[in-house]
Amino acid sequence: MAKLTEEQRRQRAAARARQKALAAEQADRQDNERRERWAREGMRLTWEEVLAGEPCRGCGEPMHDSLGDWPPLMKLSEEQRREHDAAEARFKEKHPNCKSSRWSYSGSRVTHCSSCCPPPPLSPHTLRKLADFCATLPSKEERKKDFDTWNLTLTCDHVAQHIQHREHDHVSTRVVDCPECGGERRGVVQSVRVGPAYSDDAIQAERAVADEERLAGELAAAQEKLRREERKAESTRRRIEEMQKQLKPES
Ligand SMILES: [Zn+2]
Ligand SMILES: [Zn+2]
Ligand SMILES: [Zn+2]
Repeated sequence: MAKLTEEQRRQRAAARARQKALAAEQADRQDNERRERWAREGMRLTWEEVLAGEPCRGCGEPMHDSLGDWPPLMKLSEEQRREHDAAEARFKEKHPNCKSSRWSYSGSRVTHCSSCCPPPPLSPHTLRKLADFCATLPSKEERKKDFDTWNLTLTCDHVAQHIQHREHDHVSTRVVDCPECGGERRGVVQSVRVGPAYSDDAIQAERAVADEERLAGELAAAQEKLRREERKAESTRRRIEEMQKQLKPES
């Protein structure tokens, strides 16, 4: 068989990249449809419902069985292995064609399916930890100097811009909204790093705008405080006048 020319190799690679992008686009569409259905049919549990012991609205199994995590597979006792195999068989029976990932709460042995079961709600503790973590991140202006712009060629042949942290050497996002196609979700066929997303001047300008907005806010608050003080002084002045009138006998 004749060896492929450079051009043929390039064409084949391009065709494969396009195929992969179309598949990602299809999976993304199904994910979105699933999420919309979960929202429409009210299938997501709240944290309170999980605590109250409501079963999963996807598969009907308990959300949490309080049995503790499975020990590592190598360390299962004879009896635990039987239970584990039975649980595995039960899962396969309920989800014969689901190839997606699985999830379970820590400390629980019930396994849920990412296709059939809406994701579990976060506990207030986890939400607080997330908020604390976000508070430690540098400000948006500070982070901008570390961001690069990438050009993404999409399945519709439009090129969309994508911004991400410089430390990433590829774009892991596989489907994005195409601004040229009215926000339609499109698979990413090819990505090329362009360079810094924000010039130093742009970052400076943005910081100046942020400073100005902050100052304007502080000025408005100070003016409002002054008006309150003036109203208070005015009413005190009137009270003093009243008292003076009462002290002075009418002439
Ligand atoms: Zn489930
Ligand atoms: Zn499933
Ligand atoms: Zn497009």
